[in-house]
Amino acid sequence: MNVLVINCGSSSLKFQLINAETEDVLAKGICERIGIDGRLTYQPTGGEKEKSDKAMPTHTEAIQYVIDALTNAETGVVKSLDEIGAVGHRVVHGGERFASSVVITEDVKKAIEECNELAPLHNPANLIGIEACEKLMPGTPMVAVFDTAFHQTMPEKAYMYGLPYEYYEKYKVRRYGFHGTSHSYVSKKAAEVIERPYDQLKTIVCHLGNGSSVTAVMNGKSVDTSMGLTPLEGLVMGTRSGDIDPAIMEFIAGKENLDIEGVMNVLNKKSGVFGLSGELSSDFRDLTDAMNNGDKKAKIAMDVFSYRVAKYIGSYAAAMNGVDDIVFTAGIGENDDYVREQVCSYLDYLGVDFDKEVNKGLRGTQKELTKPGSKVRVFVIPTNEELAIARETLALVK
Ligand code: AMP
Repeated sequence: MNVLVINCGSSSLKFQLINAETEDVLAKGICERIGIDGRLTYQPTGGEKEKSDKAMPTHTEAIQYVIDALTNAETGVVKSLDEIGAVGHRVVHGGERFASSVVITEDVKKAIEECNELAPLHNPANLIGIEACEKLMPGTPMVAVFDTAFHQTMPEKAYMYGLPYEYYEKYKVRRYGFHGTSHSYVSKKAAEVIERPYDQLKTIVCHLGNGSSVTAVMNGKSVDTSMGLTPLEGLVMGTRSGDIDPAIMEFIAGKENLDIEGVMNVLNKKSGVFGLSGELSSDFRDLTDAMNNGDKKAKIAMDVFSYRVAKYIGSYAAAMNGVDDIVFTAGIGENDDYVREQVCSYLDYLGVDFDKEVNKGLRGTQKELTKPGSKVRVFVIPTNEELAIARETLALVK
């Protein structure tokens, strides 16, 4: 069965058409600048990448262009919509309601809408994508795969904040965690690589991308994760601060004459390695170049980032009373050898025998980074959220 995987943002929409049985990607692309003007990038596997400007006042036009491209007589990969058996939608927040993926019904859409206030930038856009697909592909089953679902196994002691209990009762203020599809996919893959049962392993996954999070996966279940009620908590990220002393908010508001919205804007968009580097860049490729050219702030940004990752690994080794394997994934985790070396330089005490030579220059490929006999094994495992969504969708629709 071919599954169309949709990751819908407020002004963009990424898609992949995957044969969910063979796991081959048939075509992929992105619609950008939806609601502004509109641009479609489309690439059939083995074919040329095409870019075209198309008017996309809403997501419905964007999805129509995706369907047109996929079914195009010359460059398409299917003859008609009948060859698309299901659509898998990435949905960011499923709150406490969804501990696994679900087939989308009116009831499910209502529940996703109820989570809007927990992810105001993401969930409304995810819903718009679902409704646009429903309109253009009536009768095709749709599945929602939630970023939060994998973390619903966390125990209370990990998800409760030290805040008045009534905030949890009244408003569901708690840790939810994100990137669950990636943490789940990568931790399972690690168990396959190590050839040990998934339900008997203590794994720490470091998903280091534009947004970054670390998860402790014990016996196949997420038991703690660094992102919280929102994706702002935890690691230092591209432009997000991660953990800070909450009192800094009032202090900076006073000094800079900012209201709460202004402070949140700083924490979400002007902080992280972007802020630390003096607004040089949030991209680790730029930071690496600058650091290699002697830029002190770029080096500070990369070192603060790596140190925070190492601290989370230490705390999750404690949370699980041990660790068998540590996995780096996502844009930075898969590609940045400096960050990986820095992080692992703090992990000797755990029994990580890191192989600097293997790590050097390694980009985007699955590889073990520890020497034979290392007590704790470290890997790079590329994530594949689209494939994970296609698998979930196939399993539910079958
Ligand atoms: P993601 O959110 O997983 O797509 O990751 C995107 C981030 O990965 C970018 O902002 C970069 O910081 C980082 N990245 C991508 N490629 C490289 C690379 N070759 N070296 C270092 N960092 C990279």
